[in-house]
Amino acid sequence: MVYTAKLSTGQLAFLFPVPDAIPVRGALWVVVRKNEVAVTDGKQPTIFCTEKPEVLPGSSGRMQYLGHQKTIPCYAAEVAAGTELPHGWEYSGVRELFGRVPDEELAIAALAVQIMDFDRTTRFCGRCGAKTRQLRTERAKFCSDCNLITYPRLSPAIIVLVRHGDKILLARSPHFPAGLHSTIAGFVEPGENLEHAVHREVFEEVGITVKNICYFGSEPWPFPHSFMIGFVADYAGGEITIDNHEIVSAEWFHRDNLPPIPSPLSISRALIDHWVERH
Ligand SMILES: [Zn+2]
Repeated sequence: MVYTAKLSTGQLAFLFPVPDAIPVRGALWVVVRKNEVAVTDGKQPTIFCTEKPEVLPGSSGRMQYLGHQKTIPCYAAEVAAGTELPHGWEYSGVRELFGRVPDEELAIAALAVQIMDFDRTTRFCGRCGAKTRQLRTERAKFCSDCNLITYPRLSPAIIVLVRHGDKILLARSPHFPAGLHSTIAGFVEPGENLEHAVHREVFEEVGITVKNICYFGSEPWPFPHSFMIGFVADYAGGEITIDNHEIVSAEWFHRDNLPPIPSPLSISRALIDHWVERH
């Protein structure tokens, strides 16, 4: 294994069934406002609030169990859009926390945002429209009217660095900031395995075939619910032909001539950095 995921909550234990009552003290809370979390300012910022944040004027009262950090339970607590934070706290997007808080806290912030989004979007049954209730025995919602169980949504996506001699393939999506190039990525379709998805995405986006597909590592990417599975592969054949839809340009790049690439938080960057170090 060469890759250490930055947004994986590996340090957190998930203990089920969760207790009925959320304690008033002795737990850690992460305050979530839409896609942002509260973080302290100052020299050693933290996202952890040691008092139950339901006293905040904008609290919706909605809380979700995240997991246990050793023996301490962690919860996400939702506040309304306009809620002002106490002195010394501010809101931050999850990506902006990278490098500002320890990676473990970054991962818990990402989980908190994702789980609150799950809570918000599953209050009613997707099949019959009745109100759901939280299950205590697993992270899921249950509809008593039709027995449907709804789990948090996870969308697996492959991401692949394609090598060709001393060059790699990088491409530009029309949504990227100016100049930025990245590795090929795309969602796994129902019925596919990961290798199929790699072959299909590369061929669809740039018209080439690949071989020697090797697993690199994976990364939760909760923006809002992707899960990236990273690979390296070798060029097998074909000419670069872009689809002009998902991709607006694609080229082979030498390590000495790389374009702007994604931030160090992403697995795409890790794939590129790992290749550069080896060459
Ligand atoms: Zn239902």
